[in-house]
Amino acid sequence: MKEEVDVGIIGGGPAGLAAGMYLARLGVEVYIFEKDYYGGLLIDARRVENYPGLEPMSGPALAALMKQQAEMWGARFIHRKVDLITHFDERIHLGMEGDTVKCKALILAMGTEPDVYTLDGAKECYTRWNEIPEEIGDVIVLGLGDAAYDQALSLYEDGVQVTLIGNTIRANHILKEEVRKAHIPVIDKVQLEKVEQEQGKFVVHGEDKVWTSSAVLVSLGRIPLTEIFNYDKPLPAWTHMAGDIQNGFNRQASIAAGDGIKAAMIAMTDIEGR
Ligand SMILES: Cc1cc2nc3c(=O)[nH]c(=O)nc-3n(C[C@H](O)[C@H](O)[C@H](O)COP(=O)(O)OP(=O)(O)OC[C@H]3O[C@@H](n4cnc5c(N)ncnc54)[C@H](O)[C@@H]3O)c2cc1C
Repeated sequence: MKEEVDVGIIGGGPAGLAAGMYLARLGVEVYIFEKDYYGGLLIDARRVENYPGLEPMSGPALAALMKQQAEMWGARFIHRKVDLITHFDERIHLGMEGDTVKCKALILAMGTEPDVYTLDGAKECYTRWNEIPEEIGDVIVLGLGDAAYDQALSLYEDGVQVTLIGNTIRANHILKEEVRKAHIPVIDKVQLEKVEQEQGKFVVHGEDKVWTSSAVLVSLGRIPLTEIFNYDKPLPAWTHMAGDIQNGFNRQASIAAGDGIKAAMIAMTDIEGR
């Protein structure tokens, strides 16, 4: 790892990979830092059918194409978590355990984290379907949005017995129809209260009812992942956000990728003459 590069990108999801691809192709030296999986949340997506210009494919397949394209043009992948951002001497300093990398411009593409803060016991539950051990045969998915339905279908296709529980159904009609055809039980209008663990099982409490399963997957919304920087302090100059981290409810891979390209174009002007 070099001490200084032109542009640092934190996050290797669609936003970060697109930004890295764009910059590397124009000869800019770029590092893409990723703490978990390159591809970000796309790794959890069962089937992406709405990415412009591409045939339907699995999320991991689309992520692999994006990574391959960035790699082809020379983007460098650093599999590390960035946990500090500071700024002096006209350079942004990115801190990670034991190391620092300086850059002239920075793209923040850290995405979101699952909301496990509004329900007691949610922090002890799974938040990604593909992290649930294979031997688990029954899972309750908490949440009734697109991501909850999509992950419930992924589990079902893996032979897991799934139940969806939540308050208001927000999933789109295509996912609703797929869940109906798969005969996955959907229990709505439940005000969730807490999740407890008893004798190796998970117990979900909602008003006067309880449901028990071997694992619980929480998909109750997402929060922008801004833990590295403090909103009380201004972000360093030459820093740009891209992707889900700034897009509220409009979280889509194609939007994130477009954002990444836009941030990359702005970063190009940032590094000129510096
Ligand atoms: C189940 C599911 C199905 C979906 N289906 C679709 C679909 O069909 N079509 C569609 O368009 N979209 C879909 N999406 C949404 C899409 O995946 C996201 O909108 C997209 O991945 C957002 O890209 P991003 O790069 O902004 O963030 P993310 O994909 O969240 O990537 C951010 C990355 O940053 C990394 N990171 C965070 N902090 C740090 C740090 N400090 N240091 C290093 N790395 C860090 C994270 O580990 C993560 O990999 C789906 C999402 C889910 C969950």
